[in-house]
Amino acid sequence: MPELPEVETTRRELERVIVGRRVVTAYVGKPKMIVEPGSLRLTDIVGARFQAIGRRAKYFIFSFDRPATLLVHLKLSGQLVVRRGDQTLAAGGHPVPRFDTPLPHRATHGRFDLDDGLTLWMTDIRQFGRFIILDRSDVDGYFADRRLGVEPLVSEFTVDALAQALAPHRMLPIKAALLDQTNVAGLGNIYVDEALFASRLHPLRAAASLTPTELATLHTEIRSVLSYAIQNGVAELPAGKVDPDSNFPRAHGRFSLPCLFCGTTMARIQVAGRSTDYCPTCQGQSSTGKNPHERVG
Ligand SMILES: [Zn+2]
Repeated sequence: MPELPEVETTRRELERVIVGRRVVTAYVGKPKMIVEPGSLRLTDIVGARFQAIGRRAKYFIFSFDRPATLLVHLKLSGQLVVRRGDQTLAAGGHPVPRFDTPLPHRATHGRFDLDDGLTLWMTDIRQFGRFIILDRSDVDGYFADRRLGVEPLVSEFTVDALAQALAPHRMLPIKAALLDQTNVAGLGNIYVDEALFASRLHPLRAAASLTPTELATLHTEIRSVLSYAIQNGVAELPAGKVDPDSNFPRAHGRFSLPCLFCGTTMARIQVAGRSTDYCPTCQGQSSTGKNPHERVG
C-alpha cells in the first residue's frame, strides 16, 4: 500500500510536471470511486488550472485557480502516472502494474487530459482509491471529520505531541497505536515496523508505557525513517519480502532473515491484523517487560 513517503515522493513528482497545467477533460469510470459530499462535481475542475499539490496524511490535495479542490487517496493499490504520449513524466503509488505499462488498461479508472498534451492517469487494481471533490473552504473540515492525527514531518509533531497521542492507550500495543491514523497521520505497516526496530521497541509494548527516553527515541526514529525513505527511495517489497541484500527496509519483510544489528533470526507476529517483523533480541520484551537496551550503559 502506498504509505506517507510514497505519497510525498509522488506529490513532489506531480508538482514538478502539472502545476500550471489546465484540465481539459476529467473522467473517472467507476462512480463508486467519486465522492462529492457538497454541491461541486468532478466536472467542476474542467477548465481549471493546477495551482498547488499539497498532502495531508496519505491524501493528495490538488488545488486550482477556482474553489473546486480535488483530493485523491490511493488506498491499497492506486497509482498515478503522468504521460505525454508514451513518455512517462511522473509516476508513483502502488508499483503494480509497472509504471511503464501501456495506458489505459482494464484497471485504469481515472483519466485527466491536461493542456500541453499531458494526461494524468489513475490505475487501481482493487478500486479502493477515491477522488473527492470539495470546495476549498471545506477541505479543513473534511480532514477534521476524519480525526487525522498530527503529521509526523511538520513542526507540530513534537515529543510532547507524540506522548499526548499515545497516553490514552494503556493496553493497546504501540504498533497498533501508531497504525491508528487518529494518533499519528500517515504511518503505515512498513514504516511503523521500521521505526520500532530503530527505536529498539517491542511492537507489543503498551503504547502508554514508554519512558520519556523511549518516546524521544521513537519520535526521532519516526522522522528519520520517513525522511530516509523520501530522500533515498521508498521501501520496496516485491512479493511481500525484502531483497536480503538490500538495507532498506531494515525490519519489515525480513522475517526469518538475520537481524542487521545482532544476527538473531527476525520474528513475525500479527498485531492489529498486520504482519509485524521484529528482532526478539534488539526489541526486547513485550507489554510489561523493560527494553534490554535501557539497561545498557
Ligand atoms: Zn537484533
